[in-house]
Amino acid sequence: MGAPRLREVLRRLEKTYGWPPEAREFTAMLAKAKGLGPLGTLIAIVLTQNTNDRNANVALERLYEISDGLSMERLRAMSLEEIAEVIRVSGMQRQKARTIKALVERFDEATLLNEDPEVLAQELLSVPGIGPKTVDVFLLMVRGYPTFPIDTHCRRVLTRLGFIRRGERYEAIREAVIKELGRDREALLRLHTLLITHGRRVCTARRPRCGECPLSDICPKVGVDEG
Ligand code: SF4
Repeated sequence: MGAPRLREVLRRLEKTYGWPPEAREFTAMLAKAKGLGPLGTLIAIVLTQNTNDRNANVALERLYEISDGLSMERLRAMSLEEIAEVIRVSGMQRQKARTIKALVERFDEATLLNEDPEVLAQELLSVPGIGPKTVDVFLLMVRGYPTFPIDTHCRRVLTRLGFIRRGERYEAIREAVIKELGRDREALLRLHTLLITHGRRVCTARRPRCGECPLSDICPKVGVDEG
């Protein structure tokens, strides 16, 4: 069985999980729902690195409280240690605090909103602690730029669907998804988000529940031990 078309995967996942998801399930969406600007939302995305969105949400709320609603002046005045202590629940707090400090010192709202997306991507990637996934989430969710962020759930589900090979390079996956869906920002956003939901709820790392999966009849289940 070959890999199913991504439009069909998207259609079925939308039907199963609905759209839009609850904001608290995705910290970046929660940040937008709280009315945070681009820098605040970017900080929220940094908080999600290597943790689940529940912990990232708690860290975001605490940082929000202590910094007068993520006021840039307040964040610039806070020490690394203070920020690290406040966001401790999200893990890797010292590295994340360094990244947050670098972001508030090097970027302003206007640049994040208006700079050419490709140029901005390169500038953001030069900040320690900012990788392609963080940049892609920001560009897609805040700038509405048609790109495709790949997290561990997206990678796992796309591998099992036979759409990519195990261990495929990040950039190659992004290119393949965009090639198939086109530069359709809404479809890319929905597929990214719904693959994460699917990976959390059904196509889990251990013991995926293929028996109750809406993709079961079109999924080659690559690498899944069904015994
Ligand atoms: S059929 Fe199984 S392996 Fe394929 S997407 Fe569904 S849960 Fe994942």
